[in-house]
Amino acid sequence: MKPKHAQPAAPGPDPYFPNSGDHRYRVHRYEIALDYRPGPNRLAASARLSAVADTALSEFALDLAEFRIGRVLVDGKAARYTHRGGKLRIRPAKALTAGAAFTAEVHYTGNPRPVRSPWGGLGWEELTEGALVASQPVGAPSWFPCNDRPADKATYQVAITTPSPFTVLSGGRLLTRTTRASSTTWVYEQSAPTSPYLVTVSIGNYRPVPLADRPAVPQTGYVPERLVGDFARDFARQPAMMTYFSEVFGPYPFGEYAVVVADEELDVPVEAQGVATFGTNHLGGGWERERLIAHELAHQWFGNSVSIADWRHIWLNEGFAKYAEWLWSEHTGGPAAAVHAAAAHRLLAGLPQDLRLGDPGRRLMFDDRLYQRGGLVVHALRRALGDDAFFAMLRDWAGVNRHGVVATADLLAHASRYTTAPLGPLFEAWLEQPELPPLPELPALPGDEPSGRSGVLGRLGWFR
Ligand SMILES: [Zn+2]
Repeated sequence: MKPKHAQPAAPGPDPYFPNSGDHRYRVHRYEIALDYRPGPNRLAASARLSAVADTALSEFALDLAEFRIGRVLVDGKAARYTHRGGKLRIRPAKALTAGAAFTAEVHYTGNPRPVRSPWGGLGWEELTEGALVASQPVGAPSWFPCNDRPADKATYQVAITTPSPFTVLSGGRLLTRTTRASSTTWVYEQSAPTSPYLVTVSIGNYRPVPLADRPAVPQTGYVPERLVGDFARDFARQPAMMTYFSEVFGPYPFGEYAVVVADEELDVPVEAQGVATFGTNHLGGGWERERLIAHELAHQWFGNSVSIADWRHIWLNEGFAKYAEWLWSEHTGGPAAAVHAAAAHRLLAGLPQDLRLGDPGRRLMFDDRLYQRGGLVVHALRRALGDDAFFAMLRDWAGVNRHGVVATADLLAHASRYTTAPLGPLFEAWLEQPELPPLPELPALPGDEPSGRSGVLGRLGWFR
């Protein structure tokens, strides 16, 4: 399918991060070359962006944290620039005309460090040995100049040169690995359209661990040597998970899937394009950890392939990833999604009801209630449509919007094609009103098997 990143996705600045990105142009390719020395945490880098101006531009802005800027070129010619407050404002020697394709090249050096945010440091993080990148939502400028909007998706080539003993991972396919003297250069190509916050790098003492013999989608762990056994045990079901999700969400959107277990404890695992990063504390097995494996894998469809137009719609990422946890539980003979939904509803009923799911505000965008309530919306849709229509809707949603950009209104329009009942009231109650609607559940009826897709409950309908 033709990538949709050529279409304008969301006009105007992001309501939650008005200082991030520049909506007047779109990038379609990044070529980033990094030379990184882990000991002194020293980065010498260049980035070349290929972009299209949507309007005439006498200047444009890239997001880039504090680095020492070397040369800045537009279409190969030196350009004037200013760099403050995380914005690199570039004035080309010759103004860009509307519709013009152009390249911007930035050379920069410095000590990368996380971007400060209400959720802690984001982006490039130095580890005891190596580094990792976890940028959601606005950490990408901690290591490369970008148009930092989730809707501005581009392909990426990332080349990383670092001391030879380290293993280096970025998203996509490893094109080449070249060793010269004591350094090795790893070149990765991510050919799928990718949001800047989902571009990642991991540098560490990792051993690659293939997860299955000739699986449909190559899956590899990058794991500290001493944890290889634990990893193989705890992630043993991931290939089956990949198979199941590929059935219910449609084909896996990328060429491969890598899991990094960083040699540190991390608050939460984080998703990137074709990659998920876990901490040592996420090993150990049990449902609470297995659900995270399902959650991160599901983000490859919901969030990474089907991306949000802006951060107001983050529930579309987290609600579907949460529901994927419940589906996996149901599929593997654990509690049915309905049981998880009931538990989530009980939890939310005892908490303040001041969250508008469809526009939670920056302060609440990562609130646990958003995840739980997001899962409940998907469950409410399942009840409203019935299982047959719901699973068709779900698969088509990921298929039609593969590598695209969506907003909540798109889901309403899409789901409405799978039922004659109006879904507007359901969306209004769950997404626009802060009060918690009743649990989208009906009394148990004969034939309501936990994993069945009979649609018995669904045929009765959500609205009675
Ligand atoms: Zn998530």
